[in-house]
Amino acid sequence: MSFDWQANWMTEEHLMFKESTRKFMEAEIAPNADRWDEQGFVDRDFWLKAGSSGLLGASAPAEFGGAQVDQSFDALTIYEQARVGDAGWGFGVHNICVHYLVAFGSDEQKSRWLPGLIAGEIIPAIAMTEPGTGSDLQAVKTTATADGNYYVINGSKIFITNGQLADLVIVVAKTDQEAGASGVSLIVLEPNAAVGFQRGRNLKKLGMKGQDTSELFFENVRVPRENLLGEHEGRGFFQLMNQLGWERLVIAIGAVGAMDGMMRETVAYVRTRKAFGQRLMDFQNTRFKLAEAKTKLEATRSFVNECITKVIGGNLGSVDGAMAKWWGSQMQCEVADECLQLFGGYGYMMEYPIAKAYADARVQKIYGGSNEIQKELIARFLDAD
Ligand SMILES: Cc1cc2nc3c(=O)[nH]c(=O)nc-3n(C[C@H](O)[C@H](O)[C@H](O)COP(=O)(O)OP(=O)(O)OC[C@H]3O[C@@H](n4cnc5c(N)ncnc54)[C@H](O)[C@@H]3O)c2cc1C
Repeated sequence: MSFDWQANWMTEEHLMFKESTRKFMEAEIAPNADRWDEQGFVDRDFWLKAGSSGLLGASAPAEFGGAQVDQSFDALTIYEQARVGDAGWGFGVHNICVHYLVAFGSDEQKSRWLPGLIAGEIIPAIAMTEPGTGSDLQAVKTTATADGNYYVINGSKIFITNGQLADLVIVVAKTDQEAGASGVSLIVLEPNAAVGFQRGRNLKKLGMKGQDTSELFFENVRVPRENLLGEHEGRGFFQLMNQLGWERLVIAIGAVGAMDGMMRETVAYVRTRKAFGQRLMDFQNTRFKLAEAKTKLEATRSFVNECITKVIGGNLGSVDGAMAKWWGSQMQCEVADECLQLFGGYGYMMEYPIAKAYADARVQKIYGGSNEIQKELIARFLDAD
């Protein structure tokens, strides 16, 4: 039984891209993942290799160095990374940042940043969450006050993926503190040259240990006004909402990849491990648990496939993304728990990939908008006329 992703929307090009991406992940991630977990970040060199292998700009415009295919190719990269058991490399965030620039950046901004992002020379982050607010994004307290040709940014952010390495940070800040959601703007900060910008701790986490999830601090950081994303201030909340469908689907695609990886490991284990003179696979409980897990995986995959078809057609809705995100991450956590149980004590040992997969899975229900927030969004849609 092979655990793999096949779908009607995949063309010959998709299958070739998937195969070469799998080879890349197996060659470049698998041998380094433990070391990245120890050091708490992914090597910069890896980003460059991903860039030269064409993984970072698949869906970016050709004029800026991208391959200009649709996001279904990015979906395969997300899937293959998760399938190999890695949650450290911040590719999902990279992809999201690229799409913010493509969707809302001026030509000048695109030509300034996209080529470096696509080459893996610029590592990006998006900084929404603050110590005082996460789910309630309108309540961000970080301010960007206009002063001549500059914005002066003050505030702090927390839990920011790629925070230690980032060369470009899309900062969610209030340009008008009185205006609620319409006072929010997105401003691109180049942190390496910014006076008053500080990276805080690389936070110790339950899982995703190879990812540099960080605090960021801004004290009178001056950013040229031309770094505002979009033509007008106050569009930030709309811009965030506009991209959230894809961002949430990214989490569900990762869930499918992680479940394929976990199921592959677990089926192989229970077919060889023996107890009471028989294989674990021969116990009815094992068979039923794995049958349930496989069903959860395939039901999730079907819905994700439907969502990808909508991505290709350009009509993925935000509710689609919300449903895929909560369901996929919920199934991932349930499957991780059942698979780990079948490993017995070995499942609790970090040297077994299932232990890492279990720890990595948990945050999927929290970030990208918690699952409770996704259900609120879906319910709001149901309650609309
Ligand atoms: C590993 C990791 C990486 C991350 N990466 C990034 C990143 O790159 N950029 C970034 O900006 N953020 C990032 N985050 C932050 C993440 O998006 C937030 O943690 C998340 O949105 C939740 O916000 P919070 O932690 O402030 O929790 P809170 O908003 O305080 O929520 C706490 C609990 O209350 C519940 N809750 C809140 N509001 C409601 C409601 N209306 N109805 C019902 N329940 C509610 C939530 O569901 C949750 O269970 C990351 C977080 C982690 C852990």
